[in-house]
Amino acid sequence: VWDYSPSPESTSHIKLKERYNLYIDGEFVAPSSGKYFQTTNPSTEKVLAEVAYGNDADIDKAVKSARLAYENVWSKLSAKERGKYIYRIARLMQEKARELAVVETLDAGKTIRESRDVDVPLACNHFFYYAGWADKLEYAFPNRKVSALGVVGQIIPWNFPLLMAAWKIAPALAAGNTVVLKPAETTPLTAMLLAEIIHESGLPAGVVNIVTGYGDTGAALVNHTDVNKIAFTGSTNVGKIIQKAVAGTGKKLTLELGGKSANIVLEDAPIDQAVEGIVNGIFFNQGHVCCAGSRLFVQESVAEEVIQKLKDRLDTLYVGDPLDKNTDIGAINSKEQLETIQKYIKIGKDEGASMYESSCALPKKGYFVRPTLFTDVAQSSRISQEEIFGPVLTIQTFRTIDEVIQKANNSPYGLAAGVWTDKGSRIFNLTSKLRAGVIWANTYNKFDPTSPFGGYKESGFGREGGLQGLGAYLKMEK
Ligand code: NAD
Repeated sequence: VWDYSPSPESTSHIKLKERYNLYIDGEFVAPSSGKYFQTTNPSTEKVLAEVAYGNDADIDKAVKSARLAYENVWSKLSAKERGKYIYRIARLMQEKARELAVVETLDAGKTIRESRDVDVPLACNHFFYYAGWADKLEYAFPNRKVSALGVVGQIIPWNFPLLMAAWKIAPALAAGNTVVLKPAETTPLTAMLLAEIIHESGLPAGVVNIVTGYGDTGAALVNHTDVNKIAFTGSTNVGKIIQKAVAGTGKKLTLELGGKSANIVLEDAPIDQAVEGIVNGIFFNQGHVCCAGSRLFVQESVAEEVIQKLKDRLDTLYVGDPLDKNTDIGAINSKEQLETIQKYIKIGKDEGASMYESSCALPKKGYFVRPTLFTDVAQSSRISQEEIFGPVLTIQTFRTIDEVIQKANNSPYGLAAGVWTDKGSRIFNLTSKLRAGVIWANTYNKFDPTSPFGGYKESGFGREGGLQGLGAYLKMEK
C-alpha cells in the first residue's frame, strides 16, 4: 500500500548485562533467595536478561535502608541540596537518553519513536520539574505546615516503565521522602538503568531502593509495617487488593488504576484532525495506555464519514519491528496481554459487534495485533465496558449532547475523556458534566509534568503530576 523502506535504530551501543541485581542501600546486591527471572523482548520472544526476584527479606532490607537514609541523611540535608540531586539525576538521564530509549523499546515492545520522543523526554522533564519544587515547598502550599511522610513504597506497571518510575520517584524525593520502588515484572530493565544513573548521581545510599520481582514482591512492600505511604499504578483488581491491605494501618495511599475513556466527536468537529486524534488516542503505545480513548462516540450526522476515514487511516498504520523508526504500532507487551486482547476481540465478535481490522501483514515472531475497531457496539457489551488495554476501539453513535454525556459516564471508570468540537461553549458544557479526571479538547494523550493526572470512580484516587502530585507526598497541617 505504501512505499516502505526499513529504518532500524542501531542497538550496537547497547550492552545489556546478563543479570540485573537489586539496588538496595546504594549497592547492587543479589536477591536473598538467589532466584532470578527472565525478561524477554516481546517483538522477538528472545530473552534479554535475567533479573533478581526480590522477596520479603529483600523488601525488609530496602525499607530499613530507606528509613535510616530518611532519618540520618535525607531529612538532614537542606531542601536546596535535595533539589540539586534531583537535577543531577535529570541531567544524567538526558545524557543517556538514547540508551534508555532503545532499552525501553527492547523490553516493552513500544516503538522507538515513542520511547525516544515521548517517554524518555517526559521522564527527564518530571525530574527537572520536581527538582525545582524541592526548595519551594512553603511557597507551593502557603499557610500550611508541610513535611515529608518518611518512607514511601511505590509499585508501577509495564506500559510506561521509565516514565512511571519518574512519575513516582521525582515528586517523592522533592517532598523529602525516601523510596522503595517495585517495577513491573515484564519491564524491569529501564528501572535498573535508572538505578545505575541514581548511583552515578551520588544520591546518598538508601534514598532510592529498587527491588524487582513479581506481585508477591509488591505485596511484601504493601504489607511492610514501616512504610508510610503506598503509591500504586496498575490494574483496578490489584488496586482493590492493596486498598484492603492498607485499610486501618494508617498508611497513606494513592491509586492510579484502569480506564475506559470516552473520545467524543461532535458534528462540528474538524473531522480530519479528530481522526488523527482518535488514532493517537487508541493506538499510541499499542493501546497499553490507562487513559486510552478506547470508546469512541460519534454524532450520527458525521458517523459515516468519520468511520470511513478511520478505516482508511487504519490501513496505513505500519505494525512491526518496534526499533524501526517507521513503525506506528509495536509489539504487545507480553504473551499474556496478547491473549487477553485476542480474548476480547473474540468476545466482541460473539457479542454481535462488527469488526474491522487493518489489512497489514504481521511479523512471524513476537506478539502483535492489527489495529482493530468495532462498530454496532451495544452500550452494555463487555467490549465497551471492560478495559482491553490493547489496540482495539469500540465505536458508538449518538444524537444529542445529553445522550453522549449519559453514555460516556456509563462506565465503572473515570480516568480521561476527549471532546472534539469547533465551539468553546460545547467544550465547557461537556467538560463540566463528564466524570473524568483529565479531559482533552481537540487533542488527546497530551502529558506535561505541570498537569495533575488521576481518576474518578474505579480509576483510582489521588493525583500525580503538578502541585497536586507533590502534595500527595507531603503531610499537611493547618
Ligand atoms: P498489575 O496490577 O497487574 O501490576 C502492576 C504492578 O503491581 C506490577 O508491578 C505488579 O508486579 C504489582 N502487583 C501485582 N500484584 C500485586 C499485589 N497483590 N500487591 C502488590 N503489587 C502487586 O497491572 P499491569 O497489568 O502491570 O498494568 C496495567 C494496568 O495498569 C492497567 O489496568 C492500566 O490501566 C493501569 N495503569 C494505570 C495508570 C494510571 O495512571 N491510572 C497508568 C498506567 C497503567
